[in-house]
Parts: sequence; C-alpha cells; structure tokens
Amino acid sequence: MTSDTAAAASRLCLACGLCCDGTLFQIVRMQPEDSPDQLAALGLRIRHRGTDYWMEQPCAALERLCCTVYDQRPVRCRKFHCQQLARLAAGEIDEGDALVLIADTRRLADRVRQLLAQSGYREDGAPLQEQFDRLTSTRIDPQLEPELAETRHHLETAMRELKLRLARDFLPPPPVRDEA
Ligand code: SF4
Ligand code: SF4
Repeated sequence: MTSDTAAAASRLCLACGLCCDGTLFQIVRMQPEDSPDQLAALGLRIRHRGTDYWMEQPCAALERLCCTVYDQRPVRCRKFHCQQLARLAAGEIDEGDALVLIADTRRLADRVRQLLAQSGYREDGAPLQEQFDRLTSTRIDPQLEPELAETRHHLETAMRELKLRLARDFLPPPPVRDEA
C-alpha cells in the first residue's frame, strides 16, 4: 500500500467504524500475541471461557468513529482489512466511491436501529445482530397488532439489505476450500 493509499484508507475508517461499532462483528477474538489483561486495563470489554478470550462489540474504545487505543489495539484489529480497503489498495475503487458506499451503509445500519426502537426494543448496547435476533425471537400476530407487524416487516427487510451489503462490500470473502 502506498502512503497516499494508506492515508486514504485511514480517512475511510474515520468515516466508517462499522467493524468496531457492533454492526459488522459481535466479538473480536484474542490472539496469542494479545495480552487480555493489558487490553482490559485499557477499558476494552474482555471476556473469556477457559483460555478462549474475546472482546465484546461494540468496542468500548471507539469514540466518534476513532479508535482511542490505536497503538495498542488487538491483533485482529490490526490485521482486519475490509473489502473497501482491499479494493482501494488494488485500485479497483477510489476514495470517493468508498466514502459514498460507507455513508450509505451507515444509513442502512441506522435505519435498522431506528426500526428496532420503533418496534419497542430498548437500546442495550448489544451488537446489532444480537438486538435483531432478540427482538425477532418473539412473534407478532398481524391480526392483533397490525402496525407492529408492519414495522417488523420493514425491520426484517432493512436487516436483510444491510446483511447483503456487509457481505458484498465489507466482510472478507470466505476462504476457498480445496475439493477433496
Ligand atoms: S469496515 Fe473497513 S472502512 Fe470501515 S472502519 Fe472497518 S476497516 Fe475501516
Ligand atoms: S480496539 Fe480499536 S480497532 Fe479494535 S475494535 Fe476497538 S475501536 Fe476498533
């Protein structure tokens, strides 16, 4: 990555935050090089089961789309490059294209949050997928609650659209498996 591309990538991240704010991921797994104690001391929400450590999302270190522990961030954060950054580095898109797509994707995520609130979900700081799963685990009878059923329909549509967008434009493509 050239220094110009790295600077553009940094500007994109500062306009985005989707991989830190609970939209893209629910947790970030700790790697052997990470020190869970040091990261917890920085205020990150570290949890563990036995020797399996992870950090909860949305990340406690994210402030106004900026990582406040950037120089000490976990290994997975350092290594993660979403598809926007990968395409930028490959010259397939320019910064302007990526900024438009990021802004539009943030609007989609905000729409899901708005519909969750309209559906009666009280914001609890959980990752977006978890909020959606909890809310939609209860069924609505359209005969008894037609307005709520309509909001639920809009919510499911918005979440579907968001997930397609995240898979297509942000999450790394799944690894190709060799045929046995
Ligand atoms: S999703 Fe991509 S552009 Fe957005 S903050 Fe994460 S790495 Fe940066
Ligand atoms: S430590 Fe920084 S880069 Fe990692 S998830 Fe938190 S805010 Fe994002």
